[in-house]
Amino acid sequence: MYPVGELGDCFLLNFSSAGKESHILIDCGSFRNNGTTIPHMQSIAADIKTKLSGKPLDVVVGTHQHNDHLSGYVHAFDTFKAIGAGHVWLSWLDSPDDTQAQAIAGGQRKLSTKLQEISKSLSAINGLNASKAAEHINDVLGFYGLDAPALNSTPVVPQQGLNNLKALGGKQVSYLYPGTIMDLPGLDAGAVKVYVLGPPKDNNLLFDINPGKGESYDSKLAPVLNMADGFMAGLTNFVGKPVAGEPFFPFDQKFEKPRDHLTNPLMINYSDPANKWRNIDEDWLDQAENMALYLDAYTNNSSLVLAFELVESQKVLLFVGDAQTGNWLSWKTIDWAGQTVSLDKLLQQTVLYKVGHHCSHNATLPESLEKMTHPELVAMIPVDISDPNITKVNGWKMPAANLYKRIKELTKNRILRADMVYETDCDPAGAIGQANWGALLAKVDITASKTVVTYTIEG
Ligand SMILES: [Zn+2]
Repeated sequence: MYPVGELGDCFLLNFSSAGKESHILIDCGSFRNNGTTIPHMQSIAADIKTKLSGKPLDVVVGTHQHNDHLSGYVHAFDTFKAIGAGHVWLSWLDSPDDTQAQAIAGGQRKLSTKLQEISKSLSAINGLNASKAAEHINDVLGFYGLDAPALNSTPVVPQQGLNNLKALGGKQVSYLYPGTIMDLPGLDAGAVKVYVLGPPKDNNLLFDINPGKGESYDSKLAPVLNMADGFMAGLTNFVGKPVAGEPFFPFDQKFEKPRDHLTNPLMINYSDPANKWRNIDEDWLDQAENMALYLDAYTNNSSLVLAFELVESQKVLLFVGDAQTGNWLSWKTIDWAGQTVSLDKLLQQTVLYKVGHHCSHNATLPESLEKMTHPELVAMIPVDISDPNITKVNGWKMPAANLYKRIKELTKNRILRADMVYETDCDPAGAIGQANWGALLAKVDITASKTVVTYTIEG
């Protein structure tokens, strides 16, 4: 695990079996694209090149189209070209030949463009809670490199990272579907099996991020696009440029009256300064956050999920990207094309869990986590609590407290964090932590400069 100094994933997996080796890179990205993060991503790529000493990566993986998973493939593309890749694995959602994928990608592009427009319009408005609403949107657009004001003149978008990955893989790019089982390139057939668990083909699961708690998000993109249009129309009207025909408003303009001209007792009461706290004039702006979260969750759910089984010991390494609830739920419904695969067993045999979405509350399905009962279970969390998205007022809750607590219990406190911020009973460098790690501590190596965290699994 390469700590990126903020939110971001970069995992190098080195397998060796029967005198052969296989090197897999899963994601290489960092949330921001600035003077600190760009050289950092380049130094990580350079370190990977050194470690491989002239050998190419056997597989390079991009789990989903967010900056914090793909930006390194842009900023350090020259190094990755020099390293080379035998195969590139992407999800079916990135396939140019899959019509369902293309339709979804088109909708996603539309929504992100609309949100950019909305953010621009909000930023131009003085008053209201416009700047707060714009901030919510820009937080999410940052994942796509589209939060323009915060960027340098050449915005880096994950789309470029994806294009670079496709170029890197040449003819060896695979767009993976759930239910696929592969041998690991570079090793003898049957040494390591790779199971593709997500993203789901079922649109309802793909778009669902929290189905167990009552739907707060629509299950299709179209209504959100419609909502974005309505929101934009509201903003345009607000700044005094009435939208022609006002298709999104319940009443024609001719029926409108300015509030201070209304004389009925209800409105007089409403306008009383003592009642300002009850006013709802600005509440419609909260929709901005919902739309932005929808886009975010939907992309996270598109994560390619891979389980690597070390066949002889049946130990499993589970890499879920940023998969959210619908993705996790879909694993139960996978058609393995006649092969017998037990999802429960894959979870029970998991000895390394790469925690989903930087340990946010809805990117690890409780019922699946509860099945990870292997006595050697270790969790790696690519979180950094110094990230401004986490430190700001009402920042993102990463790691989410209850989930983190449960992961601690299930791993017997064997958690490896990218930011090295440990509670005393988890810290592999502290006495209590060492006792908890026990014999497995010998498998952990954190470089003195904390540039890489290595964990060795014997399978
Ligand atoms: Zn992420």
